[in-house]
Amino acid sequence: MPLSILINGSRGRMGHALADAAKEMGVTIGGAVDLGDDIAAGLAHSDVVVDFSSHQATRSVLELAVANHRAVVLGTTGHAAEEKKQLLALAAHVPCVWAGNFSVGVNLLFALTRRAANVLGSDYDAEVVEMHHRFKKDAPSGTAARLLEIILEERNLTASALRHGREGIVGERTPTEVGIHALRGGDVVGDHTVLFAALGERIELTHKASDRGIFARGALRAAQWVVHQKPGVYDMQDVLGLK
Ligand code: NAD
Repeated sequence: MPLSILINGSRGRMGHALADAAKEMGVTIGGAVDLGDDIAAGLAHSDVVVDFSSHQATRSVLELAVANHRAVVLGTTGHAAEEKKQLLALAAHVPCVWAGNFSVGVNLLFALTRRAANVLGSDYDAEVVEMHHRFKKDAPSGTAARLLEIILEERNLTASALRHGREGIVGERTPTEVGIHALRGGDVVGDHTVLFAALGERIELTHKASDRGIFARGALRAAQWVVHQKPGVYDMQDVLGLK
């Protein structure tokens, strides 16, 4: 039996990319809903809810999945930290893959960033630069947020170390700060660069997405994987065996 998914956010950019990827990968679309539609309607014919909509929809998507014992693939970004903490507790009741970026290349970038932060140590100043299309509503991107989390984890720092852009007389860079810069414009699907700069050398790890099909194909790969898992929250590192 082919996997069947319910797409929430079906009229959006990712909704369309998911429909194309499903055709390509032999995944059935059991339901496709968007803002104002009854999401419960398509659930009966779907094994997994795939949500790429708005952060305001996440709670109701998860509540519905928990009540109906459905697995979830959650790609929506833009949740506040406290909001995300509560949602993670709810998501843990079903098999759920939650990832700020479903691309295989970006997930390798996560693994390489962890390794680089670990090997290079705090003498190398870490900064993250991201660029997305002019329509993107949240900043920094979910992917940049994850890259920052990885750097903070490896350096035993908290979110107070983050510097969101710089303006005015900010003084010399302190060794513990981690900069994040969000560029917006045009139709850029998603660029992320992690820089580690020391006196005398600089390493830049860059990923550039040119087609949002990579996120859709990754999300469907996650959907095919998550239906065989126990309840719990997983990420793409789990799906790809990168942990
Ligand atoms: P979009 O604005 O093109 O589409 C969002 C769709 O969701 C719209 O059709 C909108 O009507 C619908 N929507 C809004 N609120 C809703 C609700 N409460 N219930 C149901 N549908 C609702 O945006 P997009 O580019 O498709 O991105 C959607 C989300 O996915 C964003 O949060 C984006 O950051 C995220 N995203 C994640 C990844 C990833 O790999 N994790 C990749 C791309 C985009």
